[in-house]
Amino acid sequence: MPGTLFIVATPIGNLEDLTPRALCVLGEVDLIACEDTRHTRGLLNRFGITAKTISYHEHNERQRAEELGKLLEAGNNIAIVSDAGTPLISDPGFRIVSAAIKRGIQVIPIPGPAAFVAALIASGLPPDQFFFAGFLPARTTARRAILEELRPIPATLVFYEAPHRIAATLKDALNVLGDRTAAVARELTKVHEEIARGSLSELAQRFSAGARTRGEMVLIISGANKTESRAGAKSEDAPARLAARVSELESEGFDSKLALRKAARELGLKRAEAYRLMVAQKKRRSK
Ligand code: SAM
Repeated sequence: MPGTLFIVATPIGNLEDLTPRALCVLGEVDLIACEDTRHTRGLLNRFGITAKTISYHEHNERQRAEELGKLLEAGNNIAIVSDAGTPLISDPGFRIVSAAIKRGIQVIPIPGPAAFVAALIASGLPPDQFFFAGFLPARTTARRAILEELRPIPATLVFYEAPHRIAATLKDALNVLGDRTAAVARELTKVHEEIARGSLSELAQRFSAGARTRGEMVLIISGANKTESRAGAKSEDAPARLAARVSELESEGFDSKLALRKAARELGLKRAEAYRLMVAQKKRRSK
């Protein structure tokens, strides 16, 4: 009989959030695959679990997926956990799960904490439709391009973010999405838990580049309203937004040609169209 692969959610801070079912599975499996064995050992020790552990991460997951697949076929029951929260959610594990499914192994989820769910339900923003976008790119150009793609989505937007990037992300979000309602949920389930709610401009000020921000955080931003959504990426205010971004880049030292090319890329516009919009914007201004 082949074994079973359990995907086990673990706490995102408060250890009391480990569910009784997770505890039971972790105590009974033959092997626990962890992102970081030393990190998970702390959790297991706390609950007196002595199961064997093996590491898997971004760099060895392909190979581990093969190895674990064979162990599962040989009848071993295996649990995968990540450092915190639900494995596979902005965490590795997907390759292991798909390899197991390909081999016909039974895969059982053991649900529990996930930072984005906790943040969304306490944010005060509508949870009926949401778009979980994971981590935004670290570089401004790529980050703005993704925000631009997300702009017309009529659902609450949810992001994971690092403390050293929150100021830049809030600034980009404000520029690309406009002054929408948002929340930053920090250190959820931990001693310094905080949910800062307000407009993007208020939050950008609160988490400005000078302020020291610590902890893990989730950023939630309200979705596009009907008009924004209908207008889509190439909205009526595209010329104004293009012009604003071009002048921002020029003030950062880009020459006007390069600024236009860069701004066009960020806004997902073809170069010729961007040029046409700039001309239209100039005409609009001179009237
Ligand atoms: N798999 C995890 C989950 O289910 O939430 C997410 C892992 S991802 C590598 C780590 C990110 O999740 C952090 O950078 C932060 O954005 C978010 N996060 C994790 N724990 C958190 C917490 N206690 N409070 C707020 N955000 C948290």
